[in-house]
Amino acid sequence: MFENAASGSTIQIAGRWSAADSRETIDVIAPSTGEVVATIAAGGEADVDRAVKAAREAFERGAWGRLSAVERGRLLMKFSLLITENAEELAQLEALDCGKPMKQARADITACARYFEFYAGAADKVHGETLPFMNGYTVMTLREAKGVTGHIIAWNYPAQMFGRTIGASLAMGNATVIKPAEEACLTPIRLTQLALEAGLPEGAINLVTGYGEKAGAALAAHPGIDFMSFTGSPQVGTLIQQACAINNVGCTLELGGKSPQILFDDADLDKALPFIAGAIVQNGGQTCSAGSRLLVHKPILDQVLERVTAKFESLVAAPHDEDADLGALVSARQKARVQSFLDHAAETGIETLATGRISPNAPPGGFYVAPRVLGLVPPEHRLAREEVFGPVLAVTTFEDEADAVRIANGTDYGLVAGIWTNAGDRQMRMAKKVRAGQVYVNGYGAGGGIELPFGGVKKSGHGREKGFEALYEFSELKTVVFNHGE
Ligand code: NAD
Repeated sequence: MFENAASGSTIQIAGRWSAADSRETIDVIAPSTGEVVATIAAGGEADVDRAVKAAREAFERGAWGRLSAVERGRLLMKFSLLITENAEELAQLEALDCGKPMKQARADITACARYFEFYAGAADKVHGETLPFMNGYTVMTLREAKGVTGHIIAWNYPAQMFGRTIGASLAMGNATVIKPAEEACLTPIRLTQLALEAGLPEGAINLVTGYGEKAGAALAAHPGIDFMSFTGSPQVGTLIQQACAINNVGCTLELGGKSPQILFDDADLDKALPFIAGAIVQNGGQTCSAGSRLLVHKPILDQVLERVTAKFESLVAAPHDEDADLGALVSARQKARVQSFLDHAAETGIETLATGRISPNAPPGGFYVAPRVLGLVPPEHRLAREEVFGPVLAVTTFEDEADAVRIANGTDYGLVAGIWTNAGDRQMRMAKKVRAGQVYVNGYGAGGGIELPFGGVKKSGHGREKGFEALYEFSELKTVVFNHGE
């Protein structure tokens, strides 16, 4: 364990680490064992205020604000390389903090390094245009930083989200303040240390650990924030948007999902089934883009169920083993939440079609849940509409294409969808009719692809992160008009 988390000095402001102004702390619990493994600062309004002011200083007068786009890109690339050099330590920290199997944690750190690599390369490639206007005028647009951006992230992929949101914002030249989730913030703390080591000027990344209701709410409401990036639940997303409305600033909201995998009778089942299982057990199903609904074309229901249930019965939840299919859920609270959905399913007559296993090596204090397949779940049932955020696949059937579209679009969410069919015309029709921010045809990336714009429609949020789209979100377009006469 690194010394900041051991001492509770986990607030980073203008290059200095400190405890919370209030001296309050939060215990960090390892999900795999249920044991306390570190202590972090419970930051509040005073800490957030100092962090926002430090970011403003860095942006307007500090070394960070004076860098050219090329120089910013070079620093982000150095940071990316340093993440890769320290990848094993970071992956162990991520696995410890989130309960992930090492394979998943390593993939997350690779993705984090890749975000900074991508945005390092992009920093000097975003630019304005010249526009045709009246004779005697020349008009240009400039893409400029917004200023100080606030970032609140969830606990399920802390390292990836840090890369995604901080990488894009820094590339555009903003100075940032991040509030990671209280359940999992060890890698964001360590990454912030590494950013300073890589040479990022003080105040470019300020980090305040703490509870959402205190530190998070103070950040979202701070009048010194020019733009907010939020990843978390729809309920808190609404609060963030309200706070941004009061300050008249914009925000991106990356919220939940109830993403469908739509399996037609002409699909290649050998290809589809590993994706269908992977998309719901990855990270224990605690993935916003988890493929949590399996919509099966009626004629193939029996063979699909036979294969899906066999697959799920072979899955094992285990502590950080190399090849565990899933680890522990992030907290006792999350485990209880998933269990309450399973209880509700049983009480309402939904059958458990398959149950995976919990490894005998799993410590009894850990927050393990065996993967489940539930069916058949009517489209209007809670299990088919609400986000469980656990390894629970709800199976529903459909009659034809129109029925599939109706059921797929029948929830409040619209994040990702998977369409499995070999008919080219149907692929195109379905991709257009399904309401989601990302649609995969004969594949499922669970939000993957650093280069690919990502975000939702409906209650899944608005705005796009990842790819170049994020750079547009984190920048402002200025129009400059020269009246020079003919
Ligand atoms: P949450 O909304 O409770 O917490 C997310 C973050 O918001 C945390 O940092 C938390 O401390 C903070 N927060 C909580 N209350 C706050 C408040 N009143 N003001 C300001 N900040 C506050 O979400 P969660 O339950 O921890 O995370 C799971 C949710 O996140 C799921 O709905 C999931 O789908 C979603 N998620 C979405 C994406 C995406 O990219 N679309 C990615 C990961 C998770």
